Amino acid sequence: MSAALDDLRRRALEIADLHGIGGLLLWDQNTMMPPGGSDARADQFEALERILHDRVIDPGLGRTIEALEPWAASADPDSDDVALHRALKRDHYKAVNVPTDLAAEISSASAHAQQSWMAAREAKDFKVFQPALERVLELQQRYIACFDGTAEFAHPYDVLLDDYEPGLTTEELRPLFATLQDELVPLISAAAAAGEEGRVFPGHFPAEQQKALAGELLRAVGYDPEHWRLDAAVHPFARSMSHTDVRLTTRWEEDDLAMAVYSCLHEFGHGLYEAQMDPRHYRTTLAEATGLGVHESQSRLWENLVGRSKPFCEWFLPLLRRHLGGAFEAIEVPDLYRSVNQVRLSLIRIEADETTYNVHIALRFELELALVEGRLSVADLPDAWDEATHRLLGLETPSLLEGVLQDIHWGAGMVGYFPTYTIGNLMSAQLWGALSAELPDIEESVAAGDFAPLREWLRENIHRHGRKYTSRELLRRATGEELQVEPLLSYLEGKLLDAGLLTAPVRIPRT
Ligand code: ZN
Repeated sequence: MSAALDDLRRRALEIADLHGIGGLLLWDQNTMMPPGGSDARADQFEALERILHDRVIDPGLGRTIEALEPWAASADPDSDDVALHRALKRDHYKAVNVPTDLAAEISSASAHAQQSWMAAREAKDFKVFQPALERVLELQQRYIACFDGTAEFAHPYDVLLDDYEPGLTTEELRPLFATLQDELVPLISAAAAAGEEGRVFPGHFPAEQQKALAGELLRAVGYDPEHWRLDAAVHPFARSMSHTDVRLTTRWEEDDLAMAVYSCLHEFGHGLYEAQMDPRHYRTTLAEATGLGVHESQSRLWENLVGRSKPFCEWFLPLLRRHLGGAFEAIEVPDLYRSVNQVRLSLIRIEADETTYNVHIALRFELELALVEGRLSVADLPDAWDEATHRLLGLETPSLLEGVLQDIHWGAGMVGYFPTYTIGNLMSAQLWGALSAELPDIEESVAAGDFAPLREWLRENIHRHGRKYTSRELLRRATGEELQVEPLLSYLEGKLLDAGLLTAPVRIPRT
């Protein structure tokens, strides 16, 4: 038995290292690599993918997993080794069900579709993208068919969801999005009517000043220069090679300070998840996030629940004044609090405020589900997009770039990914509820710039476990709850009222 376990651990270690190398390639591609390096980098990614895929589908791994079955069935299900066995078994099972040729076809069709998506944006013509997207969806159907008759997935779309948030189902998502939609639409229109125009932080702030501010902000929340880096990237992201090497990126927009401030907090939340994994899981399959929804819950928690709260504004305003002076001398905490929580009806998801954001995701969920179920054709997608935008946001879509061509996900083959953003938002509000019950002084700590109790709570309840528990189990252990919408909705309405962005409650409290 112990020989088989050793074999399992040895295989896990190599797979974990290969993932770390992939992370480094990706980080470098988006921060340091000169543009001319892109073809060679694509070759390197492909080589690495092939090696990783071979390791995961290796029949030797299959035999080891099988040999350990009787032991795993009788040992403590919460032990690290049993969790490792479970994680590798799942990865192996999912990979061997998909023929290598199909996996390669999917990856090349996605690369091609991303190019078409860019060309279509350039030409402002959906027809340029349409054939490539049709191909992507056709391959997704073949991918789904690989799991036909396995009894594991009740709905075709579940197969796709599972790649991003294991265990999440269509049946579970439908009512969540229906409630969000029903409740958010009136809330948004009431708050948007009361809102004002203009940027969150008006003014021009040189990148050097922003860097100094972001440096102090990040060190205060928990950025450790010994183990972390911050660099510039067009689309901010976070990546880690291990818990000891965490890379954040941001964008310095001189006329939009909110970009750097909130992307730093967002990516810090992602980074902290990886930095606070239990070192015991290092170089194993357990040193990974358990799902993208959980990962996103961590970034949204720091960006929104912390970064747009009144106590945070109390702590942050003096920092803004010290680094940027001028404009910030003239405003007070309630102004800042109100400003960072403004609600505006907008067409672009990545520019959407916290309250509106999930309506953008509801729209994408509705459309991609219709595509997968065959109720909507790619040719009809642009009209369906515009119709849904009008229905949900009351807005006309003046151009494809502000409509169906705004996101790269579908072109990149990522169908079933969007819901993880909303799962992250829902979880972040649930986690905040649980942690503020356990840490009654949390608001005082944040206002004083002491983020250690918050970091510790997250380490203990979420981060350290890595992939040991499923998202469902992790949420249950941390909050005692299943995934639900009410905590997010009441948090949003409460904050809008508190910030003076709503004059009276809009929602009818649900029991
Ligand atoms: Zn994120």
